[in-house]
Amino acid sequence: MQANHATDTPRITDASAFLDQTEDLRIKDHRQFAERLAQIHRESPVLTTAEQWHLRYLDALEFSMGGKFAAAEKPLHDVIDHSGDPTLATKASALLMNNLAVGHRYEDAFKLAQQLAIDLPRIQDKAVRLQVLSYLSQTLNLAGQTDLAIKYAHMMEDTVPSDTTSCYSRSKLVAALYNAKRLTSSSPELKQVIDTCEAARQPIMTTTGQLILSTLFLEEHQPAKALSLLDRIAPSIRVNHYYPHTLSAQVQRAQAYEQLGKDEDARKAALDAVAMASPDDINDYLMDAYGVLYRVAKRHGNAASALAYYEHYVAQNKGSLDDAAAQALAYQTVQQKVLTRKLETEELGKQNSVLKLQQALDTKAAENSRLYITLLIILLAAIALWLFRTMRSQRRFKHMANRDGLTGIYNHQHFINEADRVLRLLEKKLGHACLISIDLDHFKQVNDTHGHAMGDTVLRRTVAICQQQLRSTDLFGRLGGEEFGILLHDCSRDQGLDIADRIRVAIGTTTIEKDGSGVSISASVGLAFTGTSGYELQRLCTAADTALYRAKRGGRNRVIADTENGSLVEA
Ligand code: GH3
Ligand code: MG
Ligand code: MG
Repeated sequence: MQANHATDTPRITDASAFLDQTEDLRIKDHRQFAERLAQIHRESPVLTTAEQWHLRYLDALEFSMGGKFAAAEKPLHDVIDHSGDPTLATKASALLMNNLAVGHRYEDAFKLAQQLAIDLPRIQDKAVRLQVLSYLSQTLNLAGQTDLAIKYAHMMEDTVPSDTTSCYSRSKLVAALYNAKRLTSSSPELKQVIDTCEAARQPIMTTTGQLILSTLFLEEHQPAKALSLLDRIAPSIRVNHYYPHTLSAQVQRAQAYEQLGKDEDARKAALDAVAMASPDDINDYLMDAYGVLYRVAKRHGNAASALAYYEHYVAQNKGSLDDAAAQALAYQTVQQKVLTRKLETEELGKQNSVLKLQQALDTKAAENSRLYITLLIILLAAIALWLFRTMRSQRRFKHMANRDGLTGIYNHQHFINEADRVLRLLEKKLGHACLISIDLDHFKQVNDTHGHAMGDTVLRRTVAICQQQLRSTDLFGRLGGEEFGILLHDCSRDQGLDIADRIRVAIGTTTIEKDGSGVSISASVGLAFTGTSGYELQRLCTAADTALYRAKRGGRNRVIADTENGSLVEA
């Protein structure tokens, strides 16, 4: 048969299209699907990496449809983990989930179901979305989650409204309704699914619906109707070559015969069903088959066989019960894990908010610290400014307190204080100084002739003329009226006389002008020397005043100095 097909079928030219067409046939025509798959392996055309992955997926699909779930597992994991094709990986996940559920590995199946339900909104390819929804409905139906299974079936209908889609979705819907015990043989949904799938040329789905109908006939004790239906669909079941259908139809046939009282036919049919299964297979169909065998043997007094079949029946029943318990437990476990993960995520979210709050507080604290530091700096700067201004005004006051208001040189008191301090220092280091006393001649006449303002100008100019002859270390003060004192620092008597005479000459030769009028004036000068009069300020002042008095008496405009023997000399 296969050889015929091999020679009839044209060789593969476009591998990608060939693989796509093959996949389309998976449910519609399983035999052709398997043949095309065999053909591609036989001809082994050159395939791209993507095509190789696609073929690997189709191989896994073929294993799964033949009930070889263990063989399908590795290629499916490979496609999921390594194909790099998200669409193909999703299809592989959905198929693997279904296989795991059928293979009673419910926890793994529900984990995948959970993940696929999360991925569902992101699946753009409508055909893939349909496939995922279909497997989800089937897996949840297996888990006894019939409401969810019905929900996914309805979602399938909304995905791509077409005959094919309606067939798929109605099949899943009917399967879930049946599991939920919400169907009778006359339910309109059942007739609808069979008609729709037949019209859409979907033989496996059509048969699934028909097998549900025959089961319902049996449950309703209408064995003749069941048997006639089973006879009618037997050819397509043979063609479809789909293990669950073949087994189910065979067991139902046995049950129908039993209900009709045809025990021998029932026994043969049940034995055929048992023979189809693998030795370690546990499912409801086999339980029903052993049930038929046990009851027939018992009715015919075959106690030993009856006992043996009963043991098988109990084992299958227990397996079935265990399986139901395992389904429920696995579903609960996955739900718990999801819940735990959700709680952990929420907890992490909370911790994150606490951290964010902490960070915000830290930032605020840092801002506050910066603010305090800024305020502190401003405060310190204000204090520093206040101190600076206070000290400056104190200095200014002190300066004003020590200075003569008109001329800016030392006032009498400050001159005396400073002169006294300097003389003490000089006395210690045995240095010498000259004290000069200056009095302007006939100054009263200046005031009287030119006015008091001119007198002031003359006083200021006189100070400026004197300063030109002095060193920075010399002390200069106004002792009162038109009288000035100078202490010449580190100075001999001759040097003192020289400076004093230069001052006299400078005053005497300068014409002081103000407002167009000029004034000439002279000064009389008395000089006292520490080498002659000692370091006592009082004595020095008296000696200088005596010399000045002598200069006035001597005709003014001259310098007179004290001498060692107490006499005075003119410069
Ligand atoms: P003598 O040559 O004897 O020193 O005569 P004199 O006129 O200079 O001396 P006297 O003591 O009689 O006069 C000093 C005058 O100086 C009297 C006073 O009006 C004047 N005087 C004192 N202080 C000031 C001042 O600050 N400004 C002005 N314009 N005149 C002043
Ligand atoms: Mg005077
Ligand atoms: Mg005078």
